[in-house]
This record gives sequence, structure tokens and C-alpha cells, in this order.
Amino acid sequence: MSPTSWLFQVRNLTNNFISFVFPPVCASCPKTGSLLCADCQAKIPWVVEPICPACGRILQRPTALCAVCRREPLPLKQIRTAVIFDGIIPDIIHKMKYNGAFALAKPLADMMVEAWPIWQCPVDLVMPVPLHAQRQKKRGYNQSELIVNHFCQCTGLAHDAHSLQRTRFTPPQVGLDAAARKTNVQGAFSVQAQAVGDKDILLVDDVCTTGATLAAAAEVLLAAGAKSVSAYCVARAI
Ligand SMILES: [Zn+2]
Ligand SMILES: [Zn+2]
Repeated sequence: MSPTSWLFQVRNLTNNFISFVFPPVCASCPKTGSLLCADCQAKIPWVVEPICPACGRILQRPTALCAVCRREPLPLKQIRTAVIFDGIIPDIIHKMKYNGAFALAKPLADMMVEAWPIWQCPVDLVMPVPLHAQRQKKRGYNQSELIVNHFCQCTGLAHDAHSLQRTRFTPPQVGLDAAARKTNVQGAFSVQAQAVGDKDILLVDDVCTTGATLAAAAEVLLAAGAKSVSAYCVARAI
């Protein structure tokens, strides 16, 4: 159990009580009644083919591998994302991460659940990309862990939010170019090998930009004996 989970439980209870007294407001407009109203759901920018079969980048036309993956192959079997980081999505993710609106993990995870039949791959264990303990303490929760909890509840997949840890504090990736992102997250993760040995692991994060964070975590998981590592994120930055 993570040191912040009791705090999350209290917040969750409080949140359930608040939804009872005040019905939820849409994450993207002033309508009440649900966390994402039907009109806003119709505006979800879904990822559609063609995409790179490895990194999942959105492409103009179908190809074997995108130019980036040809130059530098990913350690991951595949990266997939449910939606494009565009339209109504950036604001919802920002509210979930920085405005304490952790309940918005649910509609975001619902998008992943809906698109999973299109992008699914064999999975033994789902793991959220961990935050450094210091950052998680400050935020009060790891948004990717909340997404994993709901995603796994809906898909029935097994999950583990504790065996993969972020052992080095890294500055945010925002504003860094691809090379700097890679250096920034190198050696940032550690894993308990017995949890992942011979398993097909699915890493989950909120946003995928260059895939550098996922790649750094995947290298550690593979070195610890994971059979394969894939990733599935809510949104793809373009
Ligand atoms: Zn709405
Ligand atoms: Zn690619």
C-alpha cells in the first residue's frame, strides 16, 4: 500500500459524498449529470489507423515502421494510445493532474477501455508508470495508477502499482526535446524482478510524447526478466 493511499481513500469517500449532494459536472463543459456529457463524448479525438505498428505515431499513410522507429528501434513491443492529445483532451488531463480533479481519471480510463478492443495485445500484468515518491506526495496521487485501477476493473486484467518504482527524481519532460527527454529519464526506474519475470507487461501512462519515459521503464522491466513490454496511454501528443 502506498503511503498516500489512505489519503486517496478519504478523498474518494469525500468525492462520493459530494457527488451525492452535488451531481457531477462535465469535465469539459458546464453540463451536470456525468463526468463527460454526451455532447463532449462526441468530440473525443480518437486515434485511427494508419499508425506506426511499433510506436503508434499517427501517420499520413500506412508503413512498416515510422522514420523514428527505423532510426532507433523501441525496446517496447508496441505503444498504443486511445485518443489524440487535442481538442477537449489536454484540458481534461491538465485538470486531472494539476487541479486535484482525480475523479477525471475515470472518464479518461473509459476512453482507453472503449478503444482497447482495437489496440489490445497479450497482457499478464498492467503497471502504471510510477511517479517519484516526492512528486506523488505533493500531488496526493499518481494519475496513471488511478487510470490503471479503473481500466483493470473494466477489462479484468491484473495490475501491480508497487513493483515498478521511480528511484531517481527527474524534472518534468515538458519543454525538452527528444534527446533531452531520453537522458532525463535514463536510470530513473527500478523493479522487483520476481513480480515481472516471464510476464507480458503493459505499461500505462496518461500522455505519450516521444515514448522516452516508457522506453526507460521498459528497459528496466526487460532486464528484470519480463517476457515483453507494451504500453497503452490515454493520449498521444502530436
Ligand atoms: Zn460536456
Ligand atoms: Zn514508430
